[in-house]
Amino acid sequence: MAGSGKTTFMQRINSYLHAKHDPPYVINLDPAVRNVPFEANIDIRDSVNYKEVMKQYNLGPNGGILTSLNLFATKIDQILALLEKRTAAPPPAKPGEPQAKPVRNIIVDTPGQIEVFVWSASGDILLGSLASSFPTVIAYIIDTPRTASTSTFMSNMLYACSILYKTKLPMILVCNKTDVKDAEFVEEWMTDFEAFQAALREEEENPEGGDGLGGGGSGYMGSLLNSMSLVLEEFYSHLSVVGVSSMTGEGVDDFFAAVREKAAEFERDYKPELERRR
Ligand code: GDP
Ligand code: MG
Repeated sequence: MAGSGKTTFMQRINSYLHAKHDPPYVINLDPAVRNVPFEANIDIRDSVNYKEVMKQYNLGPNGGILTSLNLFATKIDQILALLEKRTAAPPPAKPGEPQAKPVRNIIVDTPGQIEVFVWSASGDILLGSLASSFPTVIAYIIDTPRTASTSTFMSNMLYACSILYKTKLPMILVCNKTDVKDAEFVEEWMTDFEAFQAALREEEENPEGGDGLGGGGSGYMGSLLNSMSLVLEEFYSHLSVVGVSSMTGEGVDDFFAAVREKAAEFERDYKPELERRR
């Protein structure tokens, strides 16, 4: 979701990998962003001018983003060729020069309007092409402080759920902004049905609690949320959850541990399925 901290998270994992002397290859796919706080190797804004696209095709902001992505997706072959070159072992260094290392991580920032990316042909092409060449993992960034009531939590989970089933790629839930609110409750609500029910009951008694966005403890909403949490148990079991603060860097180690786990899962479970469907 817009404002959850995707770009700040990108900046954080980029500098983390640089500090580990393992610089990633960085791609920005958000055509409408003004400032990118990291150095992108590939930036959609270098090849499409979002404002011009809006003007030329007489589009609003969402249409502009979508059309920019479509234009960019026509270059996917060139991009893949670049990526394959940078991830392959480089030729041996000349005497006296340091040996170049292959890139081990490619990180991609997506537009704020994720639905434009997830529910579009170009999004499909971009993700599908990446996944056909590299183990690909989705990091779904959650604004933890704004997910602390049962109803916002459930909306966020359903959103993540639809992205998981649409992209058919392994997913990590990244609960961001733990410097503001601890993410322990997310994990608890996902693994312990009774804890979620207890939170529902609590909101019924204290509707102003949680994240202040209004709980859903009583009546129709309460019983819907109740059944929903049972339905989502299966979905939860496919996810890894990590709490991070993109501000302080807390939890980034855990994130990369989850990435390794999900990359292995990609090779084992997802890749055969992708190849079968092709
Ligand atoms: P995006 O729209 O998902 O790319 O979100 P941004 O990265 O632009 O961040 C939105 C806002 O959240 C900015 O004001 C960030 O400074 C803030 N933000 C991002 N990550 C954190 C975090 O870990 N902690 C806190 N306190 N604020 C954060
Ligand atoms: Mg952003």
